[in-house]
Amino acid sequence: MKLTFLGTGTSTGVPTVGCECAVCTSADPHDQRTRPSVMVEYDGRVVLIDTTPDFRQQALRERIKRLDAVIFTHGHADHVLGLDETRVFYFRQQVPLPLYADEATLNALRRVFSYIFDQTYKYGGIGKLDAHTIDGEFELWGQKFVPVPVLHGDLPVLGFRFGPVAYVTDFSTVPKTSLPLLEDLEVLVLDALRHAPHPTHSSLEQSLALVERLRPRRAFFTHIAHELGHAATNATLPAHVKLAHDGLVIEV
Ligand SMILES: [Zn+2]
Ligand SMILES: [Zn+2]
Repeated sequence: MKLTFLGTGTSTGVPTVGCECAVCTSADPHDQRTRPSVMVEYDGRVVLIDTTPDFRQQALRERIKRLDAVIFTHGHADHVLGLDETRVFYFRQQVPLPLYADEATLNALRRVFSYIFDQTYKYGGIGKLDAHTIDGEFELWGQKFVPVPVLHGDLPVLGFRFGPVAYVTDFSTVPKTSLPLLEDLEVLVLDALRHAPHPTHSSLEQSLALVERLRPRRAFFTHIAHELGHAATNATLPAHVKLAHDGLVIEV
């Protein structure tokens, strides 16, 4: 299985428009972060977790040639607004794109992209979607995906465990009942916004504490704000923990 970080930034991305801080003006390409998403590849299948407003740019950068399904963590704009850009894969593959999301997220998608879900839209040029409600673990081409319920402030959102990997972005709290779902992992990906605590996101220190408790073999942090420079922050982390960066590929 291959995991590619399509984007590792916050909802505004890094650089943030108009910001002249050291990270936003850094010459290190690892400090340029598009909105957060990962691509999971196995057995010739390509599954995305979230479609960000940067999806077109991410797909061009990674030369994505096919897309088999999209799984959504939650309905916030920085995680869904690129859904329209997936239509090129429908044009090419002629299969309505399977979407997997919880009820609240599907409702958000149906509102934001009403023209795609509207069966009477007559202007053409749109994709076709095949929406599935997540109400427990599900299987895609032989790979089991286990939803991991977490809290993003007071909003319930989903992380996912698939094989020895788990991807958990946009959370501030992992409920006790979800912790066992994140044990015995080879790779754990966690939200780590910045040093200072935030009401809806895990901080670097909070995510480090979770890594210590869950003991994955390797951990990567994502949804990173411009407070954290890539090289400087990585120099402070334990050897098995790293800030991810756009384009990072992990083979499992
Ligand atoms: Zn987000
Ligand atoms: Zn969010």
